[in-house]
Parts: sequence; C-alpha cells; structure tokens
Amino acid sequence: MEKEQPAQEVKRCIVCKSTSEGRVLLKGVQNEKDVYCCTRCLPMLIHGPH
Ligand SMILES: [Zn+2]
Repeated sequence: MEKEQPAQEVKRCIVCKSTSEGRVLLKGVQNEKDVYCCTRCLPMLIHGPH
C-alpha cells in the first residue's frame, strides 16, 4: 500500500534549505509570508550575506 503524502509543507531554512531535523528552526516573516531560519544561519541573516 502506498502512503499518502502529508498535506503539510516541510519547513525549511530559507538560507540553507535544511529541515528542522536535528536543528532548531526559527520562524519569521518576510514579504508577509512565514519563513524559517535555522540557528546556524541566523547570525548570517542578522549581519547580512557577506
Ligand atoms: Zn540554515
């Protein structure tokens, strides 16, 4: 029997595209949309992509 795909979207870090598996994703809002960023990419997000 085939399993149905869950309707819920997988939350991914907007920077490294990692899922919340094994790390913490923080929720934010960008352009009126919910976005997520993992704690590893958070410093880069704060200081800008340099
Ligand atoms: Zn990340």
